[in-house]
Amino acid sequence: MTTTHTTPHIVIVGAGIIGLSHAVAALDAGYRVTVLEQDARAVGASIRNFGHLGFGAHGGPLAGLADEARILWPSIAERAGIDIHPTGTLVLARDEAERAVLTEARSQERFAHAVPVDARGVAEMLGRPEVDPEFRGLLLPGDLTVNPRGAVAAIAAWVDAHERGALRFSTTVHAVSQGVVSTSRGEITADHVIIAAGHLLGRLFPDIAEEYGIGECALQMLRVREPEAEQVRPAVLTGTSMLRYSAFSGPAVDALRTHLERTRPDLLEMEANLMLTRHPDGTILIGDTHAAHQSAPPFLNETWSATVLTELADVLGSGPLEVLERWQGVYAQSANHDIVSVQPAPGITAITVTTGIGMTLGPALGARTLAALNLSLPATHS
Ligand SMILES: Cc1cc2nc3c(=O)[nH]c(=O)nc-3n(C[C@H](O)[C@H](O)[C@H](O)COP(=O)(O)OP(=O)(O)OC[C@H]3O[C@@H](n4cnc5c(N)ncnc54)[C@H](O)[C@@H]3O)c2cc1C
Repeated sequence: MTTTHTTPHIVIVGAGIIGLSHAVAALDAGYRVTVLEQDARAVGASIRNFGHLGFGAHGGPLAGLADEARILWPSIAERAGIDIHPTGTLVLARDEAERAVLTEARSQERFAHAVPVDARGVAEMLGRPEVDPEFRGLLLPGDLTVNPRGAVAAIAAWVDAHERGALRFSTTVHAVSQGVVSTSRGEITADHVIIAAGHLLGRLFPDIAEEYGIGECALQMLRVREPEAEQVRPAVLTGTSMLRYSAFSGPAVDALRTHLERTRPDLLEMEANLMLTRHPDGTILIGDTHAAHQSAPPFLNETWSATVLTELADVLGSGPLEVLERWQGVYAQSANHDIVSVQPAPGITAITVTTGIGMTLGPALGARTLAALNLSLPATHS
């Protein structure tokens, strides 16, 4: 089947997971798609994350998006040839305040399918011979894990190989007006333009960044060798994670925050979300810390990295972890919005996820943006 030139052309700026998710949704809807990426390959937030597709821990308005994304991710992974692992997520509680959060969570509808885990089960899921008998866990069984580096590259390749898709790397977009995208390689015409520039949205649309208070959030991450790598085990969230994911809310979460303010102010100061994902190559992605900036400086705080290493070695019950890589990731952040999706002018959609969950939600955001577009497709494809 060849496609007529009357097929509307959607140009997408940015080949991170948000741009690529929109590209897949646009191709599925029947449009022609060109993705423009300034770098020679995507090296932004989408390859720097945990690859944690953590659908289960999102509550409120994000829960519906998470549920949609849970349906879409396996289909994208299958078509792009991505290994997607049904690891689930173990939410680990190691003291009374954290156990109270799990008890509170279990009474909520969002956790209806979560599975309580006793100390023995926790040890098994962590790959430890034993843990403190007071440890408890909650398994979120629907969560998935991917290798973010491979996943983003594979989706990009799938888009580029599609008969209606094209990916142009090393092509910087300088300006977008209705119907015309000005790039470092000349102008491209479009029926609709989707800006998925992550934390760089303000470079193209400073007014939107100002209006929505979009700044940068810098996170520190490490990749370490798995102490016992015989199987891919669940992702792990800990007490600090309970303060960050929207499905955890209520008096027990407030009490945990107060408890941590007293016992571990250092973790709150670095806005830690101590968590990990485990991968079949025998490595573990661990992190993370958060710092808000207008423009994130490149420097890693070694005290923070050392704390992350010590804390997660403690979770794994291992000796010192062997560090293979350290890096900083940056995502867009806004104090008042989780997602910014606006139309700065007719024919242009600008979308960025302003909290650290875009890897999980990307496919659902792509599907929703495309569902709201009203471009007429030709009656027939010849
Ligand atoms: C350390 C870290 C850990 C995280 N962990 C998780 C996790 O486990 N699970 C989860 O769901 N989320 C996680 N997140 C959040 C998630 O990674 C982000 O929300 C998501 O990757 C954002 O995707 P994006 O496509 O908007 O941004 P990016 O991946 O940054 O992509 C934007 C792209 O746009 C390109 N671009 C920008 N401007 C232009 C221009 N003018 N012309 C051409 N190209 C341009 C950039 O080069 C870039 O490639 C994490 C984030 C970080 C930083």
